[in-house]
Amino acid sequence: MSRAIVIGAGHNGLVAGLLLARAGRKVTIVEQRGEVGGLCAASEVHPGYTVPGLLHDTTGVRRDVVDLLGLSRFGLAFESEAPSVLAAHSDHKGVVLHAEAKRSRDELEMLHKGDGDGYIEWRGFLSRIRDFVSGVLSQKPPMMKPDSIAELWSLGKTGFGLRRLGKADMLELMRVAPMCAADWLQEFFGDPLPAAALAAPSAIGASLGPWSAGTAASLLLYECVRGAEVKGGPAALTQSLQKAFEAAGGEIALESEVARIRLDHGAVCGVELEGGRFVEALLVVASCDPKRALLDLIEPGTLPLDVEEQVASVRMRGMTAKVNLALDGRISFRDREGERHARAVVADHLDDIERAFDAAKYRACSERPHLEVSVPSVNDPSLAPAGKDVVSVLAHAAPHNLEGGWSGETSARFGDAVVEVLERVAPGTSAKIVAREVLSPADLEDRYDLTGGHIHHGEHALDQLLFMRPTPKLARYKTPIEGLYLGGSGSHPGGGVTCQPGALAAEAILKG
Ligand SMILES: Cc1cc2nc3c(=O)[nH]c(=O)nc-3n(C[C@H](O)[C@H](O)[C@H](O)COP(=O)(O)OP(=O)(O)OC[C@H]3O[C@@H](n4cnc5c(N)ncnc54)[C@H](O)[C@@H]3O)c2cc1C
Repeated sequence: MSRAIVIGAGHNGLVAGLLLARAGRKVTIVEQRGEVGGLCAASEVHPGYTVPGLLHDTTGVRRDVVDLLGLSRFGLAFESEAPSVLAAHSDHKGVVLHAEAKRSRDELEMLHKGDGDGYIEWRGFLSRIRDFVSGVLSQKPPMMKPDSIAELWSLGKTGFGLRRLGKADMLELMRVAPMCAADWLQEFFGDPLPAAALAAPSAIGASLGPWSAGTAASLLLYECVRGAEVKGGPAALTQSLQKAFEAAGGEIALESEVARIRLDHGAVCGVELEGGRFVEALLVVASCDPKRALLDLIEPGTLPLDVEEQVASVRMRGMTAKVNLALDGRISFRDREGERHARAVVADHLDDIERAFDAAKYRACSERPHLEVSVPSVNDPSLAPAGKDVVSVLAHAAPHNLEGGWSGETSARFGDAVVEVLERVAPGTSAKIVAREVLSPADLEDRYDLTGGHIHHGEHALDQLLFMRPTPKLARYKTPIEGLYLGGSGSHPGGGVTCQPGALAAEAILKG
């Protein structure tokens, strides 16, 4: 039987490889780095301090894919409930936003009368549309011209699902999706803090601010698939995938960078590794980003011109930097001494996020970036020495195309700005820092081979999501080159730790 090659041992490459191996294919995953996991791999920040993945949010991992893969047999487990998030504030104790909205009611009502009920109403709408939205995200984008009963059925099911929401929620969904997240959230909250904290994810992985049209759609998609975290974080997910893949007979070749995807008469015949070794394969699934796969690894001029042009126009402008902190003590948020919070969002006001985006739009780093803070040692104390914390910060509004470029000096300056913002909401943090690691979008590009340093392999925006990802002609994972498929976060349903693009790519290969 001919071999299948998967390019990249990130979580999507592992999922695709596992499904193909279970279907009886001989699969080799080739990974340029010396370890498995891609962006999910754990890394040591400082002796004794580890972050369990470059990223930290595993709430988007799809339970149905995990069940399909039987990952619990390979050690994967979830926390018992969706995490709460502290909306931290620089002048007061902020508010804890629980996934179960009623638990936040009293704190929100104290902040502003009516906000507790507003939050319950907002979450209520999300819970009513959740099954429909997550259903759309869990299936291959439909064919615009269905060519089989199965395709027609799938299209009909989506339409029926929308109709089944009922008139009020269906209309509300259609009204909200094109809106900006800020306007939508302000319909529910009088105080700026909860709206800012809830809007923050809509700006992640996008070159947009909360007042940009369409950010409500990103927020809906993000919120409708959230569940409990994976125990042990992203690294635990990829470790279980690796075990399952190897148990299914798959092999992983580390430190094996693909330099070219080779073709014979327009069909894939294998890959050439850096150094010249050729590995034969009639099927290649590329889980690296679509620009790397189709513009760098394929001989220019091989793809139809319109496809090549569309891929070249996919927007991948990195806007996020990663800052890891090793603390000689525990992080303590303002007026919350003694409380432990594994996750916090730092943005007092929607305007703060928009202003930070304004700076980045004009190729400057914001001096007041908005932050998503994770403290992995809260749930897993083994990640830091006893009584101490490791803190993982996603800092937004750090443009890849910074005027003058990124250097050690600009990274250090941005790291200082991040610590300054953090200090406002968690006083005393800066004095506890024993080590700091700043990864600019340029570092992310170099280290993880991410075009533009983009964390999602392509921006999340209305025209680059759902049935258009990465481009309308490539949205069903198959490329015009026979035997070549896309299977990473650049494909539907997009970036994040979900396992879904890899699973859908395998489905497209196995079921057509
Ligand atoms: C700083 C940061 C923070 C993030 N935070 C979150 C978060 O909190 N929550 C969330 O859901 N998402 C987050 N994301 C996004 C999320 O991590 C990604 O969308 C997802 O992990 C990508 O998984 P993947 O398997 O599709 O690709 P990757 O993990 O990028 O894997 C692709 C693999 O391909 C390999 N590769 C590339 N080119 C080649 C080649 N030529 N030859 C061989 N191998 C190659 C790479 O080395 C890599 O291992 C974050 C991303 C970053 C960078």
